[in-house]
Amino acid sequence: MAPTHILRCCQRGLSWIPVIFIALVVCWSYYAYVVELCIFTILNVGEIVVYLIFFHLSFIMFVWSYWKTIFTKPANPSKEFCLPKPEKERYEKEARPESQQEILWRAASTLPLYTRTGAGAIRYCDRCQVIKPDRCHHCSACDMCVLKMDHHCPWVNNCVGFSNYKFFILFLAYSLVYCLFIAATVLQYFIKFWTNELADTHAKFHVLFLFFVAAMFCISILSLFSYHLWLVGKNRSTIEAFRAPVFRTGSDKNGFSLGFRKNIVQVFGDQKKYWLLPVFTSQGDGLTFPTRLVNADVEQATVNLHPEPTKIVTDLPASPLSDSQNRLLSNDQQANHIEDHLSNNSLKSAGSETITVTMESES
Ligand SMILES: [Zn+2]
Ligand SMILES: [Zn+2]
Repeated sequence: MAPTHILRCCQRGLSWIPVIFIALVVCWSYYAYVVELCIFTILNVGEIVVYLIFFHLSFIMFVWSYWKTIFTKPANPSKEFCLPKPEKERYEKEARPESQQEILWRAASTLPLYTRTGAGAIRYCDRCQVIKPDRCHHCSACDMCVLKMDHHCPWVNNCVGFSNYKFFILFLAYSLVYCLFIAATVLQYFIKFWTNELADTHAKFHVLFLFFVAAMFCISILSLFSYHLWLVGKNRSTIEAFRAPVFRTGSDKNGFSLGFRKNIVQVFGDQKKYWLLPVFTSQGDGLTFPTRLVNADVEQATVNLHPEPTKIVTDLPASPLSDSQNRLLSNDQQANHIEDHLSNNSLKSAGSETITVTMESES
């Protein structure tokens, strides 16, 4: 086995450590709550039954959404975004970037693309050899282009993107509910053990520790969860919050925002009964997204994607200009301002989670 292959296998194994850590903490919390608290500490049967029902409800929803976030494969660009074979060969042989861009512009003429690089070029991933759809970014941890990439999350050892963003939000929500429920119900027994009102038993250590761990997780998850709720309301990914997408009209951090209600529907779907379940209901295909900016053009369906010197007018298919684009929503109009370009690969979010955003340079 080649040394690089062994190294890659080791990296892949090590990347599961945070997930195993969370799984062990969750298993211990289950034992501590059900056995040590409910069976050995609480004497009132009615209280035990009520606690156990709500505990298991939040536990099942939490594990279900965590599982789906971890094991839902990130969605990748479809075949239409790959260069046809002759074009790819020409692209690889071509040394001049201008000629390479010309090949890309021609290939992109049939694709529904509204965003470009900071320099106004077609966004192309040399590693995956694919034209990047809007909101798609290359993740170096996963070594692939991920549709509507949000960030690579070490705690789920997976890329959070179009295919699992809803699951990720629900995972944060249910882990918060789980920790809040534990902290709230354990508190009175925590105080009783702390003040020695209850006798020193082996349950004491578990109950005291359970409260500390639940409270600690509550604080860290709450900040991350609030940040992502704010992002959902703005229809912005973490990457886009740090670097605004660039459209024909320039960079606009609100370019994909359709108004608060529609932004939520984009992630959670239009049927409210599925909003709280970790089943896929996000709208669209992850390749194209309604953008309010396209409608700013009078000649709606004809978008000139090409940078100024060369004039190639691209006729876009009708499909990406969906109804949500036609009904422009302007209640979300904030002054456009160009976000600072990402200078680091690692970003610290509002929460405690270290978000690793790994992308190629696009400008
Ligand atoms: Zn890529
Ligand atoms: Zn990734």
